[in-house]
Amino acid sequence: MLLLLSISIFLTSCKNNIKSVEKETYLMGTIVQLKVYGRNAEKAAEESLNRISDIESKMSINIETSEISKLNAKAGISGEKLSQDTYSVIKKAIEYSKLTEGALDATIEPIVKLWGIGSDTERVPSKSEIDEKLKLVGYNDIVLDDKNSMVKLRRTSQAIDLGAIAKGYTADEVRQILVKNKISSALINLGGNVYAMGNKLDGTKWNIGVQNPLSTRGEYLGTLSVTNKSIVTSGNYERYFIVDGKRYHHIFDPKTGYPSEKGIISATIVSDNSIDGDALSTSTYVMGLEKGLKLVESIKGVEAIFITVDKKIYVTTGLKDSFKLTDKEFTYEKGR
Ligand code: AMP
Ligand code: MG
Repeated sequence: MLLLLSISIFLTSCKNNIKSVEKETYLMGTIVQLKVYGRNAEKAAEESLNRISDIESKMSINIETSEISKLNAKAGISGEKLSQDTYSVIKKAIEYSKLTEGALDATIEPIVKLWGIGSDTERVPSKSEIDEKLKLVGYNDIVLDDKNSMVKLRRTSQAIDLGAIAKGYTADEVRQILVKNKISSALINLGGNVYAMGNKLDGTKWNIGVQNPLSTRGEYLGTLSVTNKSIVTSGNYERYFIVDGKRYHHIFDPKTGYPSEKGIISATIVSDNSIDGDALSTSTYVMGLEKGLKLVESIKGVEAIFITVDKKIYVTTGLKDSFKLTDKEFTYEKGR
């Protein structure tokens, strides 16, 4: 499987004189798919993949030499000078921590590591272990130094994990590369973090499937028809394990240290910028339906689809024409 994924798939074709390039590879711990149409498609796609690698090498928690790993290793001791990429993503994460009353908290890493979801060491930790690690979580301990692009974590053993926001940032960066290469039609998919640029080649909007959180990957419960939008979903089906019939997933409530159980099992955010969509999909998932809806409705240009554990779908008004529910197992709750 890994071997297969690590081979970059590469397709180039030409239709009506418009070059079309499709690439699929494994980066940032996920499957990256790019569909790029236009004269410079090949160059644009190549540059995009290099940029994704570049961001991964700076922000990945799994790469020992990344800026994030170095910063974490110095927690409680000294700060780390960061690239503008990493510095700006940390700053954005703090902004969203404040906006979401701490539902998004990049200092969640000790909790993420303790549970080890998706790794060889995944297990349900004891309450006392969780409480111990929870003491290390708190975005107020991220000390920023704008002038020198330095970040310091105040206390030893604290650590930052940008997993909830880095892919959104990356999608926005890829989009800029495509624009620079005069691409006006493309689909960027970083493991479900999607940006639909322009229209399809036939001039119609992109149709983006919304995953059925109760089925296996690739089964959709509906579609979103969009142009120039980011679509990001946080779901309990992405990474999880099951013990005694109970599902433990990878989106944690920073207040409890347990996987968030506020009734939402999937939060999709439609926005202009993917970094906002990524931050908001994770944080609204943690906030729950009521607070999540309220927050999204208070932000101009941001729309959402929330799916709850009782198979109801809540769609904000701005999406009423673009979202089509196809799976009748779910009931549509309108009028919000
Ligand atoms: P996403 O798939 O964008 O919702 O992000 C989930 C990932 O972000 C997890 O795999 C963790 O690495 C990290 N994470 C989990 N819970 C939180 C949280 N409450 N705040 C910030 N990051 C989180
Ligand atoms: Mg996210």
